[in-house]
Amino acid sequence: MQRRPISPLTTRLVNTPAIELWPGGLLRARSNHDARILARARCVLRRKRDGVYLAADLPEGMQPLVPHLHREPGLDAALDALDASQMQVCTGPGHVAELPLHQLRERLALLRMDDAGYAKRVGLPAVAEPEWLAFAGFDRYRRPLWLRVDAARAWRHLRDAALRDGIVLEAISGYRSHDYQLGIFERKLTRGQTIEEILAVNAAPGYSEHHGGLALDIGTPGQPPAEESFEHTAAFAWLQDGARGHGFRMSYPRGNPHGIDYEPWHWRYWPA
Ligand SMILES: [Zn+2]
Repeated sequence: MQRRPISPLTTRLVNTPAIELWPGGLLRARSNHDARILARARCVLRRKRDGVYLAADLPEGMQPLVPHLHREPGLDAALDALDASQMQVCTGPGHVAELPLHQLRERLALLRMDDAGYAKRVGLPAVAEPEWLAFAGFDRYRRPLWLRVDAARAWRHLRDAALRDGIVLEAISGYRSHDYQLGIFERKLTRGQTIEEILAVNAAPGYSEHHGGLALDIGTPGQPPAEESFEHTAAFAWLQDGARGHGFRMSYPRGNPHGIDYEPWHWRYWPA
């Protein structure tokens, strides 16, 4: 099957509160039926909480991929965003608007958590999701890596600069939505973990730096992802010297004020 070329930075993920609009050609088919439709889709509507493909925008019109598409929460906002994105002229990086945070409390209530208490305890701000994200290439697992457009550009420059010095940097994980983070909690709870156990390794939905599209986890070939042993690699030594010049800083060094475990793999882009 002929794959359409996907150009970094100009290919966009359009974001709405409950549904993401994926450009055609980037989602993996989960069945033969899906494959035939996804191959022709200009855009695919995907539920953020569990990744279910809801509908495909085909040249002849919208093809539902679930039985009761019209009842899907957040569908109207997604269709409005689809219309807007098709009319949009490319205006360059410019300003990236953010989605409202109004569902943050509801998500934490689903987990029986109190947002004010949590925010105070960890000292982390709530992080809004951007209205759209830029395709920043693929991660270690050949999944599309999404970042805010300025962070995506900076990451590609950082990776290329490292490569010129013989260092291979791999993205492990970039942008994640609030709903995706909620889904992680729900799956872990189903498997019998407690909220406290999950919070020891995952920020509560709405409070991860990954929601803003500016943070990414970095690895290097041959190393396990997100392990403290990353600090002993040549890649980490290179980042300590080279990352700042490209606008990236390690968010959680040893002894950080949030009481978050040392994360030598987690870097955030700070726009100049
Ligand atoms: Zn991270």
